[in-house]
Amino acid sequence: MIDLHMHSTESDGQYKPSELVLMAKKKNLSYIALTDHDTIAGLYECELYARENGIRFLRGIEISVKGNRELHILGYGVDPESQSLLMLCDEFVKQRGLRAQRILDYLDAKGVHITLEQVMRHSSSGSVGRPHVAQALVEVRAVTTVREAFELYLGTPEFDKIERPKPEPGKGISAILNSGGIAILAHPALLKIDNATLEKLVYQLVVDAGLGGIECYYSTHTKEQTEYYLSLAKKFGLVVSGGSDFHGEKVKANIALGTGCDGMLSITEDMVSRELLDMAK
Ligand code: AMP
Ligand code: ZN
Ligand code: FE
Ligand code: FE
Repeated sequence: MIDLHMHSTESDGQYKPSELVLMAKKKNLSYIALTDHDTIAGLYECELYARENGIRFLRGIEISVKGNRELHILGYGVDPESQSLLMLCDEFVKQRGLRAQRILDYLDAKGVHITLEQVMRHSSSGSVGRPHVAQALVEVRAVTTVREAFELYLGTPEFDKIERPKPEPGKGISAILNSGGIAILAHPALLKIDNATLEKLVYQLVVDAGLGGIECYYSTHTKEQTEYYLSLAKKFGLVVSGGSDFHGEKVKANIALGTGCDGMLSITEDMVSRELLDMAK
């Protein structure tokens, strides 16, 4: 079993990189990748622990780019010392900080009052993500679950108006390629677009920007979706990747490490492209 998509406390995950490695070991995973949102800060710790525990480690990142609300590009095999990647990440942290205040004002206007301190209690890295706000909303009982926080406040069209500026997809992909990595379209089903539109988007990202693969196996993809994404990868000669997007049960309930396809299927080495696994340390 493998898992090439998970988040740590360096972004909006519940567990530290070292804790993720121990959980992966318990589940007997042979390969893992840490793919924190917009940061490579956890890679060193994760790689160290993975090596100590005999797990092959793929350096990763997940970058949010302009366009669809859930348009995320995964980077694998990135160099943690890459200046262009580090500069992009610095900008992300800054924009997330500015957005945090806008989110508090937006909630205030809706009669929901939380403080930055209450939000930051859920972030140990200092980077603020929507899940940290969601957990603060649960804590003050403005909502009962993280999911409800997204449904009512953080995942709405109205929220898009206060969303942070994101780089063009080409810029995000370039930063990944310049750091020696491969760029993969994350969780295509979350884009909620029809297959023809998706195919056009993938084609454009491949030709214009150098996209190299698709995350075909993902915890919430259905069997039909998985098969379609595999056919798309084949059609364009793209690398196939797979991961759960594990964040910890407090952040995203019902997602287990190492699972794809409705959460029912274990992702195994033979499902993803060899050239991807060969980038592991
Ligand atoms: P941000 O990068 O701060 O905009 O937050 C993005 C993260 O929010 C995603 O990667 C998910 O972890 C989380 N997220 C987005 N939509 C939902 C949702 N409907 N329910 C729970 N978590 C969500
Ligand atoms: Zn996340
Ligand atoms: Fe994502
Ligand atoms: Fe993710």
